[in-house]
Amino acid sequence: MNSPKAQPVLEPQSRVQVDLSVFGQNVRTLKRLIPSDTRFCAVVKANAYGHGGIQCAKTALENGSHFLAVARISEAVAMRDAGITAPILLLGEALPEQVSFLATHDIRASVADIQTAKALSAAAQALNTRLNIHLKLDTGMGRLGFLHPGVVTPKYGEAAGIRQAGDIADLKGLRVEGAYTHFAKADVIDKTHAKGQLTRFNDMVAMLADMGIRPEIRHAANSAAVLELPEAHFDMVRPGVAMYGMAPSHEVDITRHKLAPVMSITAKVIYVKAVPENFSVSYGCTHVTTTPTVIATVPIGYADGYSRLLSNQGQMLVKGKKAPIAGRVTMDFTMIDVGHIPGVKPGDDVIILGPQGNERISADDIAGLTGTINYEVTTGLTGRMPLSYL
Ligand SMILES: *Cc1c(COP(=O)(O)O)cnc(C)c1O
Repeated sequence: MNSPKAQPVLEPQSRVQVDLSVFGQNVRTLKRLIPSDTRFCAVVKANAYGHGGIQCAKTALENGSHFLAVARISEAVAMRDAGITAPILLLGEALPEQVSFLATHDIRASVADIQTAKALSAAAQALNTRLNIHLKLDTGMGRLGFLHPGVVTPKYGEAAGIRQAGDIADLKGLRVEGAYTHFAKADVIDKTHAKGQLTRFNDMVAMLADMGIRPEIRHAANSAAVLELPEAHFDMVRPGVAMYGMAPSHEVDITRHKLAPVMSITAKVIYVKAVPENFSVSYGCTHVTTTPTVIATVPIGYADGYSRLLSNQGQMLVKGKKAPIAGRVTMDFTMIDVGHIPGVKPGDDVIILGPQGNERISADDIAGLTGTINYEVTTGLTGRMPLSYL
């Protein structure tokens, strides 16, 4: 009666599974596409595209990544708190009042204006240290970055022009370690726009040199450019999506490089019932059975990041067979029709994303049904389903 009882293990009913060995293999595969003296910067922003930021960062470093990149200061701070000491580049822009965090956590800032540079210089001097920064150059993305003189409008744009970067060379406590740009359109077959960006980038790097700034690390390549634009590899590459085994777009073939998906989403059937013909399923009664069938309830919904746009559209895998979604996806549950799959019972495995038997549901399949891209399918997971690592 007094014997200690083992704590019952509460198995999650649905979960996101991340295969870190496949992820590590993808990192090594991508590294083989770049020269051996080109650095590798693993882009692990947005919780590593939903795959778990810390675990993926550590795995990327174990597989030969030199740098990490994130988009938010909080993401970089979380990496430091987890004991990661590798160089971290903040792709986003810090506001002047936030730069002290970058200094105390040894985070490399992207700099695209002189005010941020001055604030960083002051923070570095206050800590009696020197901060590495990377200049961000807008060569055709139209987001962050100093502009090429060819597009600077005298009336509004002077402050954003590359000539302003010259003043950064004189600021104390800063070392311009890098200069980089980001492609808007490297993921299409027609590389005209990307090549125009490359020309402007090379131009602007030469202008920096004229101003006495010669960054050791020039970088430009996202996944698409790592795979298809070798002239953009420079001193470092910054792949994201391809490390997770997903294609940057339908115009970029990753299978020929043997990059494999890292994430799967699995759940257990929690309820099954046989229903008659003319039986309506879920909110709005948008699905009505046309024959007697069997409906199974799966514990995933839009609160998990499983889009409501999949209502009456998506499929899941049960016993290696595709089962169509019946009715609306709700906040917590989604119903599937398993009338054609004998013997489905509570506790059976359901694959929402990933392979089962000879079938597979990819992030691209889900994205195609919901009018978005694979990136949003995995980053859109809300964190309610636990991540588990293989
Ligand atoms: C997200 C991002 C990347 C990675 O892009 P992928 O298409 O996922 O390879 C690289 N650089 C910057 C600046 C980014 O914002």
